[in-house]
Amino acid sequence: MSVPLDPLQAHAAKRAALAAAIREAGGAVRLGKATSNLFRTRKDAAVRSLDVRAFNQVLAVDAENLTMDVEGMTPYETAVAGALAHGCLPAVVPELKTITVGGALTGVGIESSSFRYGFVHETAVEMDILLPDGRIVLARPDNEHRDLFYGFANSYGTLGYVIRARIRIVRAKRFVELRHRRFRSAEKFLEEMKRLCDLSNLRTGRPPASPRLLPEDGPWDFIEGSVFSPTQHILTTGRFVDDAPYAGNYKYMRPYYKSLLYRETDFLTASDYIWRWDTDWFWCSRRMGFGPGLKGFLARLVLGPWLLGSRNLWKVFNWYRRNEVAKKLAPYVKSIRESQTWEPVIQDVEVPADRGAEFLEFFHREIAIKPVWVCPVRKPDPEAKFDLYEMDPDTLYLNFGFWDSVESKVQMPKGHFNRMIEVEVARLGGRKSLYSESFYPEDEFWKTYNGEGYFRLKSKYDPEGKLLTLYQKTVRAL
Ligand SMILES: Cc1cc2nc3c(=O)[nH]c(=O)nc-3n(C[C@H](O)[C@H](O)[C@H](O)COP(=O)(O)OP(=O)(O)OC[C@H]3O[C@@H](n4cnc5c(N)ncnc54)[C@H](O)[C@@H]3O)c2cc1C
Repeated sequence: MSVPLDPLQAHAAKRAALAAAIREAGGAVRLGKATSNLFRTRKDAAVRSLDVRAFNQVLAVDAENLTMDVEGMTPYETAVAGALAHGCLPAVVPELKTITVGGALTGVGIESSSFRYGFVHETAVEMDILLPDGRIVLARPDNEHRDLFYGFANSYGTLGYVIRARIRIVRAKRFVELRHRRFRSAEKFLEEMKRLCDLSNLRTGRPPASPRLLPEDGPWDFIEGSVFSPTQHILTTGRFVDDAPYAGNYKYMRPYYKSLLYRETDFLTASDYIWRWDTDWFWCSRRMGFGPGLKGFLARLVLGPWLLGSRNLWKVFNWYRRNEVAKKLAPYVKSIRESQTWEPVIQDVEVPADRGAEFLEFFHREIAIKPVWVCPVRKPDPEAKFDLYEMDPDTLYLNFGFWDSVESKVQMPKGHFNRMIEVEVARLGGRKSLYSESFYPEDEFWKTYNGEGYFRLKSKYDPEGKLLTLYQKTVRAL
């Protein structure tokens, strides 16, 4: 009878096998993962994949020093369960269970704790990175691979693949108490969000200057917003608490996003808070039959247990896309025929908070997708400079997330609305994440994403160009 290896021994065996596989592969290689949260589709599927699915385990949790070691392809669902078993949570957990630690470290992950702890990559302590030549190097802020440590965020697997990471965790409590406040004016909503972020931020947070601080002033562990229309802004704040009068359940018939419209306060278990957006993929399940009305109700009732949750919704979405279902049904179904001319606009962008109202005004006028998710983010360590996704340490940024389609006119070029957003975000001093489609001309792209710094890293860590470049991968979708 074989005795199972402990996670660390098993990890060592997986590393050796992987390094050998990449050496043998010789040519261009790319990750073969079990799941993906990459929206753009790749044109060339013929490139050989490295099977890294087994790198999906929690290796150790150090609740004293508040760090955990995880393998690179560990889905956050597993990482969260591993940390919660020790009364902790990763400091920043992206909202979807299938996002992996490695994907979020390289792909700019964010969450409602980001106003304190920054992006996911800002929670990294060190990473073991598999380079295209088969070497595995340890990248830390204080060793000879510090350039790779700071250049890894926003490299999207074009410099190497993280196979193990040590990330920061925080102490959690059993429940999260939520408060939802509504604002008619975008300016007032954003002003209040900024004020609360400043008060609760570990770096900028000041001891109460006035004895008249109100309960809504915090301190808060989580801050985010949802914009349902130009006059309907909801500011949600949350904090860990030990006890709760009840624990809300948004995992089946009641979508979480709807609760924002009628509840003032709420309580969720810490785990349910972390996955509050997963069941309905924020609100994107509406487009997959789980919308309002009787039809949506029945779909939830009957199909909900099998199809809700980001893991299942991705499968449905990918099946629909891969089999060109829309194209096949278009001749028979009018609504599908009409939607063929719609342009997918699935993006997350960051804009300095002071320009947030301007962005929303542009967005409602030109794009008009509703709702919009708003997540504040600030650098926790002003000295740490992440070369490919640098942010001003003194600025609070707002991430706006929107995931839907916009009706396109015949004469419009491909990507018309997406490109419009790229231009506006740049005008406002912001930047967008690259997990989805992008339409930047190459020179503008490299100016925006520090081409000089990128090629310095590329020539050092992938001198033979075995992996694609960031532009090839994220704009040309090769
Ligand atoms: C609809 C949608 C909603 C999203 N919502 C959120 C959100 O709410 N919060 C949030 O933080 N992010 C969100 N994202 C973005 C997501 O975090 C990034 O796309 C992230 O990179 C996905 O990670 P993944 O593990 O699923 O990786 P994949 O989707 O498989 O890959 C993404 C990229 O990362 C590279 N990569 C994957 N694993 C590794 C690794 N171990 N080492 C190096 N490179 C690697 C891949 O090569 C690829 O280029 C969303 C994306 C989509 C499409």
